[in-house]
Amino acid sequence: MTRHFSEDHWNSDTSVFARQVLEECRLTAPPICERMIADHLGIEIKAVSQELVDSYMEAYPHSKFPMHPDGVCAWLQKRSNGQQLIWVLPGMFPGRRRLSIFHECGHAVIPWHGNLDYLCSSTDIEAPIYHRIEREAFECGIEFLMPQQMFVKDALSLSMGIHAIKQLSNRYQASMEATAIRYASTHPYPCAVLVVKPTGYLRDPVTVSYSVHSSRFPERIRRGTVVSDVRLIYQAWAQPQVVHPGEVLASTLGSSAKVAYIVDSMALGASGKVLLLLWPPVSIQQGVF
Ligand SMILES: [Zn+2]
Repeated sequence: MTRHFSEDHWNSDTSVFARQVLEECRLTAPPICERMIADHLGIEIKAVSQELVDSYMEAYPHSKFPMHPDGVCAWLQKRSNGQQLIWVLPGMFPGRRRLSIFHECGHAVIPWHGNLDYLCSSTDIEAPIYHRIEREAFECGIEFLMPQQMFVKDALSLSMGIHAIKQLSNRYQASMEATAIRYASTHPYPCAVLVVKPTGYLRDPVTVSYSVHSSRFPERIRRGTVVSDVRLIYQAWAQPQVVHPGEVLASTLGSSAKVAYIVDSMALGASGKVLLLLWPPVSIQQGVF
């Protein structure tokens, strides 16, 4: 399908392209079906087998095809006859697989992404920080997976906390990590998601891998910040499936602010990464915002 968009969309929020497709498909409630979106765009989804990997390597002998967890997990192929295919590696968790497919749909609908083939890494949650093209496809893919208007309405119907992110993750069939990012980046109230990871060093054992803040969160906690209060992190590692509620002083997150945030923590799978959701107590919100 050839899609036409005004040049005014250049440099705009690329989620507009996903919203247009969602409207065309008349999809108004989650979970959004990735096959329906791909069908609508005339894109075939193919699972990769070893045979297919071999034939791809034959076609692109100089490309890298790393099969380890940090490697490529999906790509969009645009054939010269106009046919488009999304290739997906087997064995991904369903939420991760859905985001990968939607991400590739993003490359397909963003007009200035042109006729390139895209190899997209499973680390593309962090890659957007560095790569504009990937960021754009990620934004568009996230809009397919968790359309903002319905997502914010659902988020506001739940009490703030990681339990809400879990419910939304189930409702939208998205990974916890992607849902947490969506939650913090769209929530109308002040909150922040930090994903922290072990450094392997006894001194400063935990640092911030990345952070996402709602527009009303009063400060920015940067990547690389040392987390000096690690009790909630250790609890999360000890009981991985459990949400651990607590409180954390802003000063233990490198801030000069003399406030304590309410915090939930939960381990993200067996990766060693821990998700933290912070938000100010209502009394502070009333005083500060
Ligand atoms: Zn990509």
